[in-house]
Amino acid sequence: MSKVLSIINKYELTKYDQATKGGVSNLKINQNPNFGTHNTSPRSGGIEYIVIHYVGATGTAKNNIDYYNQRSTTQASADFYVGFEGEIWQYNPNPKARYCWAVGGGRQSSQGGSLYGVARNANSVSIEMCVRNKGNKNANSKDWYFEQATINSAIELTKYLMKLYGVPVSRVIRHFDVNGKYCPGVYGWNSASGSESAWSDFKKKIGSGAAATPTTPTQPTTAKKYYRVRKTWTDAASQKGAFENYDNAKACADQNKGYKVFDWNGKQVYPAAAFRPYQVRVEITDLNIRTGPGTGYAKTQHIPVGTYTIVEEANGKGATKWGRLKSGAGWISLDYVKRV
Ligand SMILES: [Zn+2]
Repeated sequence: MSKVLSIINKYELTKYDQATKGGVSNLKINQNPNFGTHNTSPRSGGIEYIVIHYVGATGTAKNNIDYYNQRSTTQASADFYVGFEGEIWQYNPNPKARYCWAVGGGRQSSQGGSLYGVARNANSVSIEMCVRNKGNKNANSKDWYFEQATINSAIELTKYLMKLYGVPVSRVIRHFDVNGKYCPGVYGWNSASGSESAWSDFKKKIGSGAAATPTTPTQPTTAKKYYRVRKTWTDAASQKGAFENYDNAKACADQNKGYKVFDWNGKQVYPAAAFRPYQVRVEITDLNIRTGPGTGYAKTQHIPVGTYTIVEEANGKGATKWGRLKSGAGWISLDYVKRV
C-alpha cells in the first residue's frame, strides 16, 4: 500500500485538472508506459459508443494497467481506468487504431442487454471505474461503492472522449446495456441492483457542458494558458481542442492528420518547428541556474542581471518552459525572463 502511495505521490496523480466548459479540456491522462497490445485488436471502424464499467475488484487504476500489460491471455482489458483519487490511466494508447476486449461474450443475464449485438468491442471505447468494497463482493451487493473523486473524474473523462470521438450522450452506455452483465455492479448503477439513480445522475452530468457538437470551442476568458490543436494558427475554425496539458494536446494532434499544437502565443510547439536561438533579458537577481531543465535539478548559482542567449528549450517541472544558456552554465526558467 505504501508503495502504491509513493507512486501516486511521485507522479502527483491526485492533481488532475477539471475540464472546463466550452470544449476546453485539461484532464491529466497518464499514459501506459509498457503497452504491448495484449488483449486488444486492430480497429478498422469508427468509435460509436463509450461504455462505462466498474473494475469489480479493489485494485488501483495503475494496478490494472500493470496487470493487463503482463497478461497475454486474460482476454479482457479496457481503454481507460479511473482511480480512487480521480487519477486516469490510459491502457490503450490509440483507441482509434486498436480496440480493447471489454464487452464481448454472450448475454450475462435476462436484464439489460438492450444493445446486445449493436454495441461491440469493435465500435466502442471502455472506461473502467475503480471501486471500493466493504465485505460482500458479489455483483450488485450494497458493499460496493465508488469514491466521489472517481465518479467526478469519470464524468470529465467521458465528456472529453465524447468530444474527441463525436459520441453523443445517448451512446454513453453501461456494460449492463451491452449484454446484461451487472456492470457497473454497484447499487444505483443498473436496474437489477434495485436502483438506477446514480447512473441517471451520471448521464445528466455528462450531458451538461459537454461539447457534443463540433462547434468552435469558446475562447477562455481567463488568463489560463492553453495548447491549441489546429491546422494553422490563423485557421481558428479548424481547432480540435484546447488543452492545459501538453501531452493531451500532442495526443489529439497525433490522432488528426495535418494538425499541429500551438502555444498561447500562437507559436507552433508540435511537431517541433526548427529552433532558432534567441536572447532574453534577466531583470531579477534571484533566478537560479540549474544543471537541467526542471526544479528537480541542482541549482548552481543565481544568474546575474543581463542579456543571455537561449540555445535550447525544454519542458520540465516548475516552469512553463526551460531554456539552456549558450554559455553552457545550465538552464533557467523562462517564466522570469523577457524575450528581447
Ligand atoms: Zn464491465
